[in-house]
Formats: sequence, structure tokens, C-alpha cells
Amino acid sequence: MPEGVSTLAKPLVLVVEDEAAIATMLRYNLEKQGFRVEEATDGQEALIRITETQPDLVLLDWMLPVMSGIEVCRQIRRRSATRDLPVIMVSARAEDQDAVRGLNTGADDYITKPFNMEALFARMRALLRRSNSVPQKGRLEFHDISMDLAAHRVQRNNRAVHLGPTEFRLLEFFMQHPRRVFSREELLDAVWGPDIHVESRTVDVHIRRLRKSINGDNELDVVRTVRAAGYALDTEPV
Ligand code: CA
Repeated sequence: MPEGVSTLAKPLVLVVEDEAAIATMLRYNLEKQGFRVEEATDGQEALIRITETQPDLVLLDWMLPVMSGIEVCRQIRRRSATRDLPVIMVSARAEDQDAVRGLNTGADDYITKPFNMEALFARMRALLRRSNSVPQKGRLEFHDISMDLAAHRVQRNNRAVHLGPTEFRLLEFFMQHPRRVFSREELLDAVWGPDIHVESRTVDVHIRRLRKSINGDNELDVVRTVRAAGYALDTEPV
């Protein structure tokens, strides 16, 4: 498990690479480091896989069939659901000018092939830390809900929401990973801890309490139940 990366759920990396040998090498090394890996081999597939799998980070090759890595990156930044998704551009080109172009389209970092795996991991860890742990110290925002973690306060539509400690941790976890569906087991691991043995039904009880507190009269239910899969914090019912 990479240092500083949550052990709650293994981070998911989408590897977008059209050269099978490089994709295989990346998958092997990333899995060894404790990441889960999904793959896409062209730009269009990358955008579809991002929507489907909601990765924590994208390793995006520059030269891709169908749609270039630059265009993929632009599209990622244009969509509100993926605006903050960490993206590392990967390219065989070493010219500084290209690096600048890559960063201008919204990539968070840039690495050239052939790359040093340790350097890549260091950059990935830095990005994941930034996207996971910075909000933990301050505020989390989702839709009309805000959490002030230092003050332990939750507001929705500017009204104070009172939550029990478990509901607070549950909401905090959801707000760190909005729109992602978590199984009851994943939520137990994340919120109760992997060593605590409670029945998965317990999750349902706390979800019910969370809903009751967070959803006021005439307010949208932000906790989505996904049949046979689990729960997500989401504003869209499907
Ligand atoms: Ca390529």
C-alpha cells in the first residue's frame, strides 16, 4: 500500500495506453504497489471508462488512437463530475513545450517515457494525497451540503444538521468520494475500520439515520441506494 494513501479502499487508477506491453508493465507495477487498475486503449474508451469506473487517478498517454490524450484531458476538465480528477500525462515526447501544453490542458503532472517507476509512484502519491487529505483538514462540499471537519459541523442549505459520530464519519467518507458506489463491506471497512466485526445490516441502520438527518423536508435525497451494489452520495437517482 503506498504511503499516505488511504487503506480504506484501494485507489483505482485508470491506465490509458495503446501499447499493450506498456499497459501490462504498468498494471503489474501498480498492482504490486496496492492500486487497483482499469485500462483503456484509446481516448474515447478512456472517457467511457472514467464514467463507468470513477477512478481516483488517470495515467493518460499523449499519443492515442481515436482521440488524443490532450483532448481527453480537456474533456475531463470540462465535465463537472471529473473536474478535480487527478491526471498525469504520459508521453514519449520530452520537449518542454509539450509538457507545458499538457499542463495547460489541465493535466496535474507530466511524465515522459521511458519513465522511472519510483518517480511515477512519487507523483501519484503526491496527487492522491492532495486530492484525499487536503479536504480532510478543512471543508468538504457537495451539492448544498458542507462539512467543517475541524469544527465538526455540518450544514445543508445553510441550516445546521446534527449527526451522530458514525453518521458524521459516514458522510465524511461519502463526501470524499462523491458519486462513487460503495458496498456495505467497503463502508464497514472505511467507516468502522477493517478490524471491527459488525453485521453489514448495521450499515443500513446508519444510512437510514444519515438520510433522516441530512434530508430535510422537500430536500433531495442525496444518498442513493444502488440495488445489489450499495450506496453512493449522489444527486442523480440513476
Ligand atoms: Ca501511445
